[in-house]
Amino acid sequence: MRIRKTAAAGAVVLALAATATACGGESGSAGDKPAGGEVYSGDYKVASAPKIDSAVLKKAQQAKKIVVGVKADQPFLGFKDPATNKYSGFDIEIAKMIAADLGFSEKQIEFQTVDSNVRETKISGGAVDFYVGTYTINDERKKQVGFAGPYYTAGADLLVSKDNKSITGPDSLRGKKVCSITGSTPLQEIKKSKYGAKTTELGKYSDCVKNVLDGSVDAVTTDDAILKGYAAQRPTKLRVVGKPFTKEPYGVGMNKDDKALRNAVTSALENHIKNGDYQKAYEGTLGKSGSKYTAPQTPLPRY
Ligand code: GLU
Repeated sequence: MRIRKTAAAGAVVLALAATATACGGESGSAGDKPAGGEVYSGDYKVASAPKIDSAVLKKAQQAKKIVVGVKADQPFLGFKDPATNKYSGFDIEIAKMIAADLGFSEKQIEFQTVDSNVRETKISGGAVDFYVGTYTINDERKKQVGFAGPYYTAGADLLVSKDNKSITGPDSLRGKKVCSITGSTPLQEIKKSKYGAKTTELGKYSDCVKNVLDGSVDAVTTDDAILKGYAAQRPTKLRVVGKPFTKEPYGVGMNKDDKALRNAVTSALENHIKNGDYQKAYEGTLGKSGSKYTAPQTPLPRY
């Protein structure tokens, strides 16, 4: 195992992140990087290429690389360091574990940033071979993509500024401005009339976080796992309310018709949950932002 230093602290980091954002850099974090200094990065034993009837895998084997769609602006989950362009976080580790079982080393993975609103298009159009990015499994999405998992279950929650006392949970949002992301399940949920919130839709979570910081919205809603990462980045300015109001089971997305790949990815997840890699990765990434570890249930369903 290696521990990757997530680079320098303070002003340098802020300046670099600000530059990346100003230049329209896709990493566009809320202004800095994962708190805690170090994010775990594991080395996973690369298996020999599985002999399965998967069109996606065959294409990747010919190209000698596997293309994985991920998030870039979610600290501790899927985060692209603006200084090094390296991705880190729990979802990145899950992607590496799966790639290893499919016969690809870390060097053979090409990570591509894919935000929530274009996931289905990128997966079904073959732009990515599989996708690991806080992707909730649901019936609507299953019409377009295949899923392996769930490998983790989050819940929609609220991120507010630290001094906000009026937002205490989803029942206190009447008339409040709440930001979320196009194509995300928490946005669909918060638009329901029962909450009475005024919603703002943006393309990146980090932009919603900026809006809470500058006071232009009252709250951000998305999965608690994501929000805790942002709160850990700015503990003096932001807090997570802590009243999850949905269930968000995370799956690995891939081509709907590639059953062989789906089974192989499911087996890879089960394998790394059983051999301890999963827990180690969890504790070294997501666990650092305060999300408690619970072992996922195995065997995983075969969709
Ligand atoms: N898990 C939710 C979803 O898949 C929210 C997080 C995200 O946008 O990735 O829509």
